[in-house]
Amino acid sequence: IDWQEFDLNELTTTAIKILQAEAMRRGVVVSTSRAPGALPVRADKVHVQQVVLNIATNAMDAMLEVAGRERKLTLETRLTKDAKAELSISDSGHGIPDDKLATIFEPFYTTKASGTGLGLSIARTIVETYGGRILASNRSEGGAVFRVVLPLARTG
Ligand code: ADP
Ligand code: MG
Repeated sequence: IDWQEFDLNELTTTAIKILQAEAMRRGVVVSTSRAPGALPVRADKVHVQQVVLNIATNAMDAMLEVAGRERKLTLETRLTKDAKAELSISDSGHGIPDDKLATIFEPFYTTKASGTGLGLSIARTIVETYGGRILASNRSEGGAVFRVVLPLARTG
């Protein structure tokens, strides 16, 4: 593990750059909202980047499966009330059946014809390695939201 201290806001910017071309091809509008200050975390940046890309790719897959709805991917960072760094990735796709919100993190669970079902299981392992958590839920407007919560490297 290549431990580094980095700003979760900067990682979000990098992730959007990587995603942008594919999002355009899929008719997805990417928007972002960042916490005003820096969100320093300690982890292997490449691993966290992989987590974000896995989640965002799933989001784009879910939106591609829905016809006639605006395709919107939002990456949002914030400082949580209990002083952790949070990156949430929300989409306007078909959402996740409520009874599958836990199952989706199990290895080999997939609803895709050619899915591996490994993306979220790997994402959870990575995030937990760095003392963080990953949570999935549905939005009332439709679509899913994934929250990646990591401890702050330092406070203040
Ligand atoms: P894969 O992408 O190979 O199917 P993942 O572990 O990445 O494997 O995801 C597992 C399953 O979780 C997906 O097949 C899909 O059913 C569900 N899922 C993940 N992200 C979303 C999302 N944003 N919206 C709806 N369903 C999702
Ligand atoms: Mg996947």
